[in-house]
Order: sequence, then structure tokens, then C-alpha cells
Amino acid sequence: MFSKIVIANRGEIALRILRACQTMDIKTVAVHSTIDRNQKHVGMADESVCIGPPSSLESYLDIPKIIAAAEVTDAEAIHPGYGFLAENAEFAECIAESGFKFIGPRAETIRLMGDKVAAIEAMKAAGVPCVPGSDGPLDDDGERNLNIARKIGYPIIVKAAAGGGGRGMRVVHTEAALNNAIMTTKTEAKAAFGDDTVYMEKYLENPRHIEIQVLSDMHGHAIHLGERDCSMQRRHQKVVEEAPAPGLTEEERAAIGEVCVAACKRIGYEGAGTFEFLYDEGRFYFIEMNTRIQVEHPVTEMVTGVDLIKQQLLIASGEHMTIQQSDIKMTGHAIECRMNAEDPNTFMPSPGTIDIFHAPGGPGVRVDSHIYDGYRVPPNYDSMIGKIITHGEDRKTAIRRMRLALAETVVSGIKTNIPLQLRIMNDQGFVAGGKNIHYLEKRLNENK
Ligand code: ADP
Repeated sequence: MFSKIVIANRGEIALRILRACQTMDIKTVAVHSTIDRNQKHVGMADESVCIGPPSSLESYLDIPKIIAAAEVTDAEAIHPGYGFLAENAEFAECIAESGFKFIGPRAETIRLMGDKVAAIEAMKAAGVPCVPGSDGPLDDDGERNLNIARKIGYPIIVKAAAGGGGRGMRVVHTEAALNNAIMTTKTEAKAAFGDDTVYMEKYLENPRHIEIQVLSDMHGHAIHLGERDCSMQRRHQKVVEEAPAPGLTEEERAAIGEVCVAACKRIGYEGAGTFEFLYDEGRFYFIEMNTRIQVEHPVTEMVTGVDLIKQQLLIASGEHMTIQQSDIKMTGHAIECRMNAEDPNTFMPSPGTIDIFHAPGGPGVRVDSHIYDGYRVPPNYDSMIGKIITHGEDRKTAIRRMRLALAETVVSGIKTNIPLQLRIMNDQGFVAGGKNIHYLEKRLNENK
């Protein structure tokens, strides 16, 4: 096992990684920007290195600086967390070339999955069900594009191959709008991701977002840890996540889980990963694979009892994963509410100083957050300030615990989305369960 690692991230995930390291007696190095000096995990880490000004480009996205931090502290591995460089193949490559271990899959796997067109192709070959689509990039041949769309049937969605974070997507309902939409998406994709490759997929009108968590070691052993339902979304971004997915049967879970495990083995996947699917009328359609730990990983941890970060560290250090598929049992139900520093009605970011923070507690309540009294939420990064996760013997209990936990939480000095999360937890449709990816936005529009 590693004796020291660099945590190349900030916020709640940096703290989560640090806590996992502490349980494993791994020393930690926090790297941080100047504005993040007072991050909780920076104070808790064994060592810390300031890597630049607040701008992410000059700090958390600056590959040479992060590798230099590993060099000067004599660390052996680098954990990327999520966001920033977590799915940057060049970063993984540079780390390996510099003689360190990247805690995640091989650079070639990251590259493959970072190109959604290539990922879909690889998944199809591995027997994973995908959304009917263009089976490759679109070119400037308008006639050809019209033919592809006709074959798929409207509505279709044009997506950037390099897209991420819910950006670079456009739904098209009519033939007249198609080629313009392709052009616009290409231009946007070029500007946002430096790559104008786009492809086309059938737009599934009312699917749920269900994803499968996997763990796969470098010796060919892979397991799945069931699913998470992340259908509560706003602008293609997840707001609430839960495990298991309401209504999914044991047979459905086992079947799609086995498909994902087989795909992991086939591509020689190493580490923790997530297969994202749209789920519609009892069928799964692969949309993308995330080659990192995800924000919503705690709901899986709560129902399976597996520490996913610990497994990432074990796998990256070359150990054989000892957990077998038969060890994985889902117990009870878990829900995660993301806490964002934003206006609960307009969704405008609300950075600033948190005067008072009281975390909720009690049985089945977990808080993953880096905030504290007097913490200043910087305007430079993502507005997520933590996550509240509740667990109960059934979904109803998890929801009740979440309502109480949200009501008990105090974050003063800035605006947060806690009032919105409370509304969701009290919403009849959410409580009924199994709503599709448009449900939340529809409800928000009704209340306008
Ligand atoms: P990103 O990498 O930006 O997260 P994804 O491919 O994972 O993009 O898609 C994000 C979200 O966009 C999905 O959860 C879903 O809400 C919506 N979406 C993507 N593809 C489709 C599709 N073919 N039909 C309907 N909705 C889609």
C-alpha cells in the first residue's frame, strides 16, 4: 500500500479522500490554491503545498504544478477526486511518466471513455445496450445527417463527443431544425471542449437516469455494487441521488450489473467506475462511462457498506480486490441531497462567508462537507458545499430522516438550496418514487 499520496482536489471530496487515507495509515499531501489555504482538509493533511492563484487553470488544472508537489513531498500516488483533472488522460499519462501512480484507470481507458463516440462503440462491442444513434460522428453532409435522423426517428439529441457536465447537447424535434442544430452544437463544442465532434442519438422522452457502480482490479477481477437513481436533475445536472432505484427488480439489477462487469473485464478497467444509463420502459440504454469516483458515491456506500475510496486506493496499489460479487448485498435505502451555495429560486451562485454551520446528526445521517463556521465560499469554483446522506431500512425512512436532517441544518450568511431540497423531499411525486429526468424541472416551472 502507498505510504503517502497527493490529493489533487479541494472541498468535500478532498476531505473524503483524506479521511479514507487516515483509516489506512496513508500520509496525505493537500495541494491548494491561495484562496483555499483555509480548507478543512489542508489543515488536516500531513503536508500541504500551495500550487497557485485562485484561478483553476493556474492551480487545480495545472498538471506540472501538481506533479511537482508529488515530487517535493516524496509522495507515491495522486488521487484526482472528481472534476478538475479527474478525467484528463494527459494528466494520468504525465503522472505515470513521472513515476507516480494515478489513482484511477489507465490513461488509455480515460481517453476512450472521454470520447463518447468511441466509448459507445467500445460498449456496443462489449454487449452493453446503447441508445439508437448515428454510430459515429456527424460530418457536414446535410443530406446524410437528415437520413440518419430519419432512420432514428425524431426527436433526436445532438451531443458533443467530448461533452461533460450536462453541456454540449441539443434536442431536435423537426427535420427543418436539424442541420442548424448540428452546426450550433459543433460551434459550442469547439468553444467549450476544443473538439467539434458531435453525434446523434434518439432522444428518449421520459427516461430515468440509472447508473451502475463498478470496481475492477488490475488482475481481472470485477464486481458491481448495484445502481443509483439520479433522475432528479436540473439542466442535466443531478440534484438528488438515491440507491437502490425505486422499483428496479433484483433480476434487472443482476442482469445489467453482469453486463457492466463483463465490459470492465473486456476493456481491462482498473479502479472505480460508473456506467450511466437511461432507463425507459424496462430497458437500459448506455450513455456514458465515468472513469472516476462520483459525487453521489456515498449512497452506494451506505447501502453496500463498501468504502469506495478505500477500494480505489487498494486497487491502484496493485492489490487483489477481496470483495466477491456474492458479498454485495444492498441493505435498506439511501438518499443524497447536494448542498449548493446558491439561491434556491434563481439558482444564482451565492459565495461569501458562512457565519454559522450546524450539521445534522442522528442515526442514519452522514454529512460529507468541508464547511465550518467562518468558512468563506470562494466564487472561483463549483458551488457545491457538501452533501447530506441519509440511510434507513426502507425508502420512506430514508426520506423522513432526510427531511429532519435538512430542517436541522443551519448554514447562515449565504444562500443555499436547502429550502429547495426540503421541497423535493416533501413532493408527492418524489415520495412516490421512480420519476423521470424531466420531473424536477417540470415541477419547478409549475411553481414559477
Ligand atoms: P454529461 O457527460 O454532460 O453528463 P450525459 O451523456 O451523461 O452528459 O447526459 C447527461 C444527461 O442528459 C442525462 O442524464 C439525461 O438527462 C440527458 N440525456 C443525455 N442523452 C440523452 C438521450 N439520448 N435522451 C434523453 N436525454 C438524454
